[in-house]
Amino acid sequence: STTDKYAVFGNPIKHSKSPVIHAAFAEQCDQAMQYRAVRVELDGFERAVANFFAGGGRGLNITLPFKQQAFALADERSDRAARAGAVNTLCLQDDGSLFGDNTDGIGLVRDMVANLGWRLRDQRILVLGAGGAVRGVLEPLLRERPRSLAIANRTAQKARDLAAEFAELGALEGGGLDLLEGRQFDLVINATSAGLQGEMPELPGSLLTERSCCYDMLYGAEPTPFMRWAALHTAWAVADGLGMLVEQAAESFYRWRRVRPATGPVIAQLRSTLAAA
Ligand code: NDP
Repeated sequence: STTDKYAVFGNPIKHSKSPVIHAAFAEQCDQAMQYRAVRVELDGFERAVANFFAGGGRGLNITLPFKQQAFALADERSDRAARAGAVNTLCLQDDGSLFGDNTDGIGLVRDMVANLGWRLRDQRILVLGAGGAVRGVLEPLLRERPRSLAIANRTAQKARDLAAEFAELGALEGGGLDLLEGRQFDLVINATSAGLQGEMPELPGSLLTERSCCYDMLYGAEPTPFMRWAALHTAWAVADGLGMLVEQAAESFYRWRRVRPATGPVIAQLRSTLAAA
């Protein structure tokens, strides 16, 4: 058809910003496409995907809690998706098979490096959390050749397991939050979901230097608890995850359409919508 069909599948999905982002990309790049947010029943993911592509769908974004199921369903996967064990982008190929990619990590790296101008090379990086989001970002982060990368998580064993799994890609260590006592980092990335409850992991105040950058994957109208903590402990720069969200969407859009949208105007547009809400 002249209007290609795309969607994001998740549950819950009501608050997804993906339809707004992709509509803005499509308009900017003059692409005839529609993009909807679809709430998929927890036990109906595979059927919903099959129906979508049988009905002429061209590509899907996948969000919570289906990224691992999407990984299993893909016929082929990018290296970074294979490493992450999770897929957030499905793409229908000419032969009818499904290609799975994971664009979360490249989205985070692009936001920090290209948009914020932060340096990753040779830096001491700390990642807080050891959930699905961390799995997706470790390989792209390690590709930037940091001096070291530490993963600290409330449940220490999950961080140790992740560090072991990705060990061949760089200087990695994992452990509990007690790992952080007396240590300092150049870049701290909060990838816990604690902020959703207005909380944050318990961190020593001595974690930051006056040159440290702090990134929270979470975003909202107000600064998150981690961002407030970072400002209080005089971080050099602090950012939320809105740019990551738009950058991962742009990479998915590129996968599907082979056109790269400009992300700056879309981040600004979302930022002003958030502030007005
Ligand atoms: P998961 O549920 O897979 O993992 C949650 C992590 O947060 C675990 O490591 C958990 O620790 C930790 N955690 C939760 N509550 C607390 C707390 N009160 N104190 C300390 N640690 C806590 O979530 P995801 O990895 O999928 O997502 C993490 C965050 O990243 C979410 O807020 C999500 O919105 C955001 N995100 C943003 C994206 C963007 O584009 N900006 C993309 C993807 C994710 P434990 O193991 O001990 O339970």
